Amino acid sequence: MKICTDPSQMQSIALSLREQGKTIGFVPTMGFLHEGHASLIRIARSKCDFLIVSIFVNPLQFGENEDLDTYPTDHESDERLCTTEGVDLIFRPLSLYDTNHNTYVNVKQLTERLCGASRPTHFQGVCTVVARLFGLVQPNIAVFGEKDYQQLAVIRQFVRDLAMPIDIIGAPLIRDEDGVALSSRNQYLNPDQRIQAQTISQALFSVQAELKKTALDVHSIRQLVRQILDVDELDYLECIDPVLLVPVTNIDKPTRLLIAAWVGQTRLIDNILLEP
Ligand code: AMP
Repeated sequence: MKICTDPSQMQSIALSLREQGKTIGFVPTMGFLHEGHASLIRIARSKCDFLIVSIFVNPLQFGENEDLDTYPTDHESDERLCTTEGVDLIFRPLSLYDTNHNTYVNVKQLTERLCGASRPTHFQGVCTVVARLFGLVQPNIAVFGEKDYQQLAVIRQFVRDLAMPIDIIGAPLIRDEDGVALSSRNQYLNPDQRIQAQTISQALFSVQAELKKTALDVHSIRQLVRQILDVDELDYLECIDPVLLVPVTNIDKPTRLLIAAWVGQTRLIDNILLEP
């Protein structure tokens, strides 16, 4: 497995692979890799000749008082996971933007609600880094997790709008044994907070189970969730159309239930598919 830290070298490698007719698979990450990332890597591995994983904690997608400075890293463990999963190359640049970088990718509408409401510059940062990474890595396919459900929808939109010839693949959300959605940020949680975090997935699963027994509207879903949820602050709880991401009031077709909540200083997100 190669490790490349230089953006222009990364692009030369990618262009030469494409000239040789190889298909490039790509999984962009911020590192501190876990089984959720591994599941994306496995999906990508089965669909390409050459698999690239990027590891870059992208300052552009963090707000002013967010956890950019404390975001966890572990290069050795990341390299071990990538070797085990058959990754061909890790792209781990120290920096990614030229000093006079001046182009930002802004997706309208989809980014205005949910995570975009509490993190107003987040998706611009995500789309800008993904666009730049796509230019350097030249992927044929790229895999993103449904864990970041809104992010996946936003990336699908921008790739479609900018006519990028890249197949965007969504991968299912992976949970820990206690139900908590795997996230690099889970390591901020102390044991008591971990128990609080479990109530997020417990609430989602309860709604899913209740829907199997009886019809529910969004009002009753909110009530049920609030009975179970033990977090320090609920950012949002939304039932949305899975493609358009607009709120629905009745669960009469497949719907996505999304929660974002604070446990201590840690913002956690989770979501589940609801079927009537
Ligand atoms: P991150 O390193 O948090 O930026 O995540 C990189 C990619 O991994 C994104 O596409 C995430 O949606 C995905 N991902 C992170 N956690 C999970 C998870 N628990 N299940 C599935 N995908 C995940």
